[in-house]
Amino acid sequence: MIERTLAIIKPDAIAARRAGAILSMIEQAGFRILAMRLLRLTRAQAEGFYAVHREKPFFDSLCRFMTEGPVIVMALEADGAIQKWRDLMGPTDPAQAPEGTIRRLFGSNIERNAVHGSDGPETARFELGYFFPGVELLG
Ligand code: GDP
Repeated sequence: MIERTLAIIKPDAIAARRAGAILSMIEQAGFRILAMRLLRLTRAQAEGFYAVHREKPFFDSLCRFMTEGPVIVMALEADGAIQKWRDLMGPTDPAQAPEGTIRRLFGSNIERNAVHGSDGPETARFELGYFFPGVELLG
């Protein structure tokens, strides 16, 4: 089933000049990039995006990290895009990530893990709308 998912190249990966390598992996894996923005999140944007994690002990640190520099947000499309992108990213903790995954290659630790991806269809709908409101790609 053709799906769409929200991907983010996080501030650590942009600062390390890995954005090009990650975009290349996205292309090689066969995703279509439907939309893309480079922006620096405000604290309010980061808190809203990660609202489900508000009660977590790492929430403040996560929001500080996500606002420390620019990010690239993208709408990706592929057959089974949500799982396909999570497989390419690897698990949250880079130390647990299989070889060849983005987080294994470019992540530093469980927080500074280079990329984000929606974890399910409802999350993808919310996250795509968060950064690409009213854009036709959501249809
Ligand atoms: P994801 O779906 O793999 O991104 O993981 P989660 O939704 O569980 O967490 C969201 C983001 O919060 C992760 O990508 C990390 O950047 C960060 N994070 C998750 N777990 C931890 C943790 O235990 N400690 C810290 N400092 N950050 C975490």
